[in-house]
Amino acid sequence: MGIDVFSLTTAAYIVASLLFILSLAGLSRHESAKNGLTYGMVGMAVALVATVLLVIDRTHAENAVAIPLMIGAIVIGAAIGLWRAKIVEMTGMPELIALLHSFVGLAAVLIGWNGHLEGAQLALGTNPEDVATLLNIHDAEVAIGIFIGAVTFTGSIVANLKLSARMKSEPLMLPGKNFINIGALVAFVFLTAGYMGAEEGSTAQDALLLVLTVLALGLGWHLVASIGGGDMPVVVSMLNSYSGWAAAASGFLLNNDLLIVTGALVGSSGAYLSYIMCKAMNRSFISVIAGGFGIEAPSGDAKDYGEHREIQAEAAAELLAGASSVVITPGYGMAVAQAQYPVAELTAHLRKRGVEVRFGIHPVAGRLPGHMNVLLAEAKVPYDIVLEMDEINEDFGSTDVVLVIGANDTVNPAALDEPNSPIAGMPVLEVWNARDVIVFKRSMAPGYAGVQNPLFFKENSHMLFGDAKDRVEDIV
Ligand code: NDP
Repeated sequence: MGIDVFSLTTAAYIVASLLFILSLAGLSRHESAKNGLTYGMVGMAVALVATVLLVIDRTHAENAVAIPLMIGAIVIGAAIGLWRAKIVEMTGMPELIALLHSFVGLAAVLIGWNGHLEGAQLALGTNPEDVATLLNIHDAEVAIGIFIGAVTFTGSIVANLKLSARMKSEPLMLPGKNFINIGALVAFVFLTAGYMGAEEGSTAQDALLLVLTVLALGLGWHLVASIGGGDMPVVVSMLNSYSGWAAAASGFLLNNDLLIVTGALVGSSGAYLSYIMCKAMNRSFISVIAGGFGIEAPSGDAKDYGEHREIQAEAAAELLAGASSVVITPGYGMAVAQAQYPVAELTAHLRKRGVEVRFGIHPVAGRLPGHMNVLLAEAKVPYDIVLEMDEINEDFGSTDVVLVIGANDTVNPAALDEPNSPIAGMPVLEVWNARDVIVFKRSMAPGYAGVQNPLFFKENSHMLFGDAKDRVEDIV
């Protein structure tokens, strides 16, 4: 008796699904994150091998060329993936992730079109009365899969362009943008109904699906382009969620249970992550997923905050020498400058002199959740002095010196004081309550959200210009 590949694959898929669930559970905590990654990698390896075996088993002799083609594609894809993962800088991770999401979206569009061109594969002897229902279900799967996939595809490309600064991070404010989004959704419903109603395989059906695809591509582009820099973290996790739903839709079309399960896991966990990020950032979840629904264009008038004051490294060192409590709030600039090592050295020096040094970490400091924690851990800064925003915000009033190292939006008082600011309502590190604030940055340029920071013009703020690594080394 030969091995039943189908049963074997089904068993492998159940094992892979369990490993993916364990992976998500592991990733939810610092201590178990490494194990979580291992479960995910083993699960994906099991899933890949099982799927390849299943495809080989089901390929007829006349299509045998498909097998070396598939294996060749896997080898090339894996080689490119390994190379990119090896060379990517930590600061380039979010844009790489956005690009990877776009591939999931593109795959879902191609699978949808393949499903359309192949038509439904109905089992022989299907009751004729059931045929129409089955065809309708198939058509709906095609239309929904293509729609979610295309929105994910272009949305992720825009996210990639914004995160890599090849596109401005300010929100695109087309007149009537909310009507454009709602109109596109209504048009999608009508197009899907028309597609399902049209004769199978007719030119009209082809044309309707083509219009639907172009519409979804445009909507994805517009949705993400309309969201401002400050809300990008939520957008990235939202696109992660969309890519999961796109994969699940492809799973229905391909009759692949594992793809449905995995897609649903990614889709729901991504949606939940977006929701908790919105809560932490005081943003409206609905507004963000609807492309900045309800957010009006900020007024173009640049506000005059007065003059800023500069300080040199020597004077900054003197301020620190006289301090008894110091809080360091790092941001994206610390990652760019790779200043975490001199920052750790400075911390050690100050602690040796009896100064209380703590770190205040904003939930979206840097370009990916946990970015600052990873950098500080890399430089061996003790965990117990690295505090979350909520744990430190009350203490700034009794702090002598705050060092703002390459952070900008996350320490911007406009979030609390200016209701019309694009970052209004976002919780921030209230560093200005300290006795003295030293801001490390290279110029007066705004942060990622593109808004000016009144902190730099406050009486107790001192700007220390230059590359953060060089300036911290000067102080050390
Ligand atoms: P910002 O991006 O607001 O500001 C970074 C600052 O670092 C800039 O003002 C820049 O000023 C300075 N800087 C850059 N390079 C250097 C350098 N070599 N030396 C010294 N300074 C430097 O950073 P924050 O961390 O405060 O805020 C994060 C922003 O990114 C938020 O708007 C957040 O919403 C967004 N975001 C966060 C994600 C996440 O998941 N964490 C994902 C996507 C976006 P200058 O050019 O003058 O030096």
